[in-house]
Amino acid sequence: MERTSGDWQDAATAITFSGQSVIDGKSVDGLSGKTFASKSPIDGRHLPDVALCDAGDVDRAVASGRRAFEAGVWSGTTPADRKRVMRCLADLIRTQRDEVALLETLDMGKPIGDSTSIDVRAVANCFDYYGAAIDKIYDEIAPTARNAIALVTREPLGVVAAVVPWNFSMLMATWKVAPALAAGNSVVLKPAEQSSLTAIRLVELALGAGVPPGVFNVVTGTGPDVGRAPGLHMDVDGIFFTCSTPVGRIFMEYSARSNLKKIGLELGGKSANIILSSYRDTAHAARTSAHSAFFNQGEMCTCPSRLIVERTIHHEVVETLLEVARDYAPGDPLDPSTSMGALVDHRHTKRGMDFIRTAERDGATIRTGGRQVREDTGGCYVEPVVLTDVTNDMTIAREEVFGPVLSVIAVDDMDKAVRVANDTPFGLASAVWTDDLTTAHKVSAGIRAGLVYVNCYDCDDLTVPFGGFKQSGIGRERSLHALDRYTELKTTWIALG
Ligand code: NAD
Repeated sequence: MERTSGDWQDAATAITFSGQSVIDGKSVDGLSGKTFASKSPIDGRHLPDVALCDAGDVDRAVASGRRAFEAGVWSGTTPADRKRVMRCLADLIRTQRDEVALLETLDMGKPIGDSTSIDVRAVANCFDYYGAAIDKIYDEIAPTARNAIALVTREPLGVVAAVVPWNFSMLMATWKVAPALAAGNSVVLKPAEQSSLTAIRLVELALGAGVPPGVFNVVTGTGPDVGRAPGLHMDVDGIFFTCSTPVGRIFMEYSARSNLKKIGLELGGKSANIILSSYRDTAHAARTSAHSAFFNQGEMCTCPSRLIVERTIHHEVVETLLEVARDYAPGDPLDPSTSMGALVDHRHTKRGMDFIRTAERDGATIRTGGRQVREDTGGCYVEPVVLTDVTNDMTIAREEVFGPVLSVIAVDDMDKAVRVANDTPFGLASAVWTDDLTTAHKVSAGIRAGLVYVNCYDCDDLTVPFGGFKQSGIGRERSLHALDRYTELKTTWIALG
């Protein structure tokens, strides 16, 4: 039976959890003994203090990962063995679904219904996917002349670090950790300081599933300390992170200034979503677009924050957006009927409010929302916003808000829509709504983005690559392509007499 709001409140009061890092299979404080306070954006309640680690702790974790790698306790096991452990981890996560989901909701404020049905399910499926895949992938023999055999084999990188944000804390970590572990690497994970709790739990569950100590470590702390340290570390072979574009640039520097470690970036977005009059069900397109923009409080790298609409259907689209926005009135994240929860913290809330005020000053019209609400709870809640009269040169159309703010930009035709869609430094996701096959192909071919949805948004599957063009990133996550990031190709040329 599904839990009620009261059940979740009780569970939130009773839950016990750790704020310690996990290094070499043990829960530990940072070397300095310092901690930082962790507060829930739901109502400001105190969560456990979290270990404030530093570069010395990262050294410990990397050394532990290296020892495990060299000893072959994981890297030297068969793919079938790794598969068994990873699938066991997936099952453990499913068994503990409610507890893990509750941690995610308390830590970063998303609705509990989303944490249980989307985040935890997707995390378990991801460990299953890479576990199941890894003993089905063959290496190659190159088509050389007959006097040689050239083997092309994949080898794990060694010790890799993953640095992740808070919006899907556990899932963003898993998109990296699952393929990295499947390939035989050791991993050091650094969660965002706003949401460390599920990362800690994930490593505890991995140990319980049989991942040997040292193979998967979590080091908590701030970006400039614990994020920077693996970036500059001479014994980290690869660093993979999901974060904002400005921090992504810093990571490129870390790699360049240290050992040229392999690098993967999943960065920000300002996704364009084009609704054309050639789509027969304007209201459906508008409804889906609004749901996608407000899902997860708009704290989505793929958030379709720029809705580009043909002028002839602008009025109908906006009326539908306003209707949907009403369904996203922020509510208690522990109530299963809530569709919009809390933003991650007060700083991020202020940043979002500043963007809304700037948009107004620049000439955009607030059609609904844009106020802070539920302030008496001590939490961080903002009503979803629909802005019209937006032009693509306004700050609101150029910078990533990472909140529930949807800007509508009116255009005359398809060509103009594509020009506006591409007029951004980002290139993560995009969409076009049309019933005309030729238009669909032309627009999808014309848009410079890693994901183009046609007549849908945020359709999701582990089997397809995820990542961005332009300043939205380097490389791809998900699908079998992700394994390329965590492996090196080795050629072994055997001369045959
Ligand atoms: P952020 O860039 O502030 O922080 C992300 C991570 O980097 C955190 O763990 C943080 O501690 C660390 N960090 C920050 N400064 C650092 C530094 N100087 N050195 C090393 N590490 C540092 O991002 P955020 O606010 O946590 O997350 C939101 C951003 O993440 C948005 O821009 C969003 O688009 C992006 N994101 C991208 C994807 C994707 O797949 N493309 C997915 C989710 C989020």
